[in-house]
Amino acid sequence: MNVLVVGGAGYIGSHTTYELIRAGHEVVVLDNLSTGSHKSIHPQAHFEWGDIRRKGDITRVLKAQAQAGKPIDVAMHFAAKLIVPESVTQPLAYYENNVEGLRCMLEALIECGVQNIVFSSTAAVYGEPKAPECREGDPTEPINPYGETKLACEKMIKWAAAAHGLNYCILRYFNVAGADASLQIGLDKDQLTHLVPLIMQAALGLRDKLSIFGADYPTPDGTCIRDYIHVTDLAQAHVLGAAYILNNNTNVLANLGSGTGFSVKQVVDAALELFDVPFEYAPRRPGDPAKLIANIDHAKTVLGWEPQHGLQSILKSDYDFRQKLNKSSEV
Ligand code: UDP
Repeated sequence: MNVLVVGGAGYIGSHTTYELIRAGHEVVVLDNLSTGSHKSIHPQAHFEWGDIRRKGDITRVLKAQAQAGKPIDVAMHFAAKLIVPESVTQPLAYYENNVEGLRCMLEALIECGVQNIVFSSTAAVYGEPKAPECREGDPTEPINPYGETKLACEKMIKWAAAAHGLNYCILRYFNVAGADASLQIGLDKDQLTHLVPLIMQAALGLRDKLSIFGADYPTPDGTCIRDYIHVTDLAQAHVLGAAYILNNNTNVLANLGSGTGFSVKQVVDAALELFDVPFEYAPRRPGDPAKLIANIDHAKTVLGWEPQHGLQSILKSDYDFRQKLNKSSEV
């Protein structure tokens, strides 16, 4: 496949690019480098600077590839804003970047005859889950602008696909963490709301301690349960998803998680087996559901996908990557 990865300099886009290239595919990365970094782009990928909100930036790349005899088979969309609290204070920026950005990209794809799109969505589209295990057919009632914009994007893709004969693969991510085994790429921006990056900060002495938000939830140890998936497993699902819709001329909507829940305390305990993590218990964080686990039967059955990495591998690769990053920034 010749794949356009829009947002390929970011965390998940760069890992997916690595997996595409490992699987023997060709990749063109389009990114405006606003949050991603140039050094995260695989050296064998062809890089084009461009902004998803400018249709001409995308059509230019698509036309150049077609003229070179290598038309793009599948386009992947990762160029989104994704910080929930930021989306609450800046909702319009989220609508502009996420919804308007995707609209431009779809117009460009349709204009240039690219028929397959893989889209990064999120468990945030479910909102407050009614059952602890989320299935794709569950109600979608987002509780923040981030989730709303992703749901709007999902719907836009479905309508555009029906009208213009596109195939789509929409993937709803749960809690993604970890780093590529090469340690060349990982999450190099500090997302200071997510558990795993905050554990790493505490472990590396970049913050005093981790706060565990709430120990009085209705779970076995009182802390919230989430579904953590290794970014490499997630990336591999994108490669399978792209090939599946291309080869079968069909659509997929699937959850991507590990299918297993770990409490915050279990994650901290797993980290403590690898390195020291100073922590304390703190009050609940508003808006956190007690338990959120993906049902991943659909991705397994349809894509033939199976997550390979457990929690220890997620934590160890993340820690090793950050330690390496810290060392190189000290030099
Ligand atoms: N959490 C925590 N301390 C932190 C950050 C997160 O206890 O410093 C908890 C959070 O309350 C939630 C879980 O870790 O129960 C996962 O939170 P995260 O923000 O990583 O992802 P979310 O599931 O909210 O998307």
